[in-house]
Amino acid sequence: MENEPLPRASKATHDRGSGRRRRILASGCINGPAIRYNQTNVEVVSPIWDRWVAEDLVVQFCAELAAGFATPRPPAEFGGDVRQVFDGTSPVREDTGRDVTNQFIDGAQRTVEYALEQGCVAAVLTDGSPSCGSTYVYDGSFSGATHTGMGVVAQLLTDNGIKVFPETQLEAADAYIRNKTS
Ligand code: SF4
Repeated sequence: MENEPLPRASKATHDRGSGRRRRILASGCINGPAIRYNQTNVEVVSPIWDRWVAEDLVVQFCAELAAGFATPRPPAEFGGDVRQVFDGTSPVREDTGRDVTNQFIDGAQRTVEYALEQGCVAAVLTDGSPSCGSTYVYDGSFSGATHTGMGVVAQLLTDNGIKVFPETQLEAADAYIRNKTS
């Protein structure tokens, strides 16, 4: 999937008076094509999601495809805190051992640029991903172990003022975006 704005992104809620768009960035794999590393997507069945789509609030993007990765691709993880990825003390590695830190940071930067350009104030991202994880990520051991923390995309969006929610917290995301647009 190339990260093209979806057709449904053509309209969006605007701030009263300011004319600023208020959109929601969503991981490209949520209810989308099977673009995850293991060639799957993430199904979210929710009337909230359906309403967002009907209201043209959702724009979708995949950081890893934007960074040039293919599908399928090896799983990738990092140890420690995501801040250590950005400061160069904890690399993102594929299970082959290949260091893909620069590509992951590049993908995160592209995601932030896109989200800001599209007027996104919140994001709903696939949890657990080294890019999109927002409440937990895998710990770098490729053992299935996880710990609390964000992926590189979620952290960089947060640093740029975009509130991030996992795909399991649509109600909280909806309340946030409604408050932003009321
Ligand atoms: S980088 Fe994010 S959007 Fe892309 S496949 Fe992984 S979880 Fe989905």
